[in-house]
Amino acid sequence: MRKRELEQLKKALLSERERIHQDLSRLQEENLNKNSRDFAGEISGLGTHIADVADQDYNRGFILNLVSGKQKQLEEIDRALDKIEEGDYGQCENCGGPIDVKRLKARPGAIYCLECREQLEKEEAI
Ligand SMILES: [Zn+2]
Repeated sequence: MRKRELEQLKKALLSERERIHQDLSRLQEENLNKNSRDFAGEISGLGTHIADVADQDYNRGFILNLVSGKQKQLEEIDRALDKIEEGDYGQCENCGGPIDVKRLKARPGAIYCLECREQLEKEEAI
């Protein structure tokens, strides 16, 4: 990989990391607000509709899912940045083969080549 490409990918990684950090703090704030609202509802003990409760649970699960997905992305980005420092960025963590530059440009945090990623996703789904 050319040095210029590497620099561009590093920049992309850093701004992606910044964006995810912002998303995460917003989501966590949202989740906290929801919890305190639920808590207030419990104290008053007055007619919380069952459908609303289910809806709130669903929302909380949804947010937690989003948060853990983003934390995973963040970990991958941090690992990719480490790899840039170590000089082995663009190498698949699973098979050691090169990751397609096009793939890296679309997703700079990729730490697996496409084949390994697909295989790992299949295994995780089981
Ligand atoms: Zn691979």
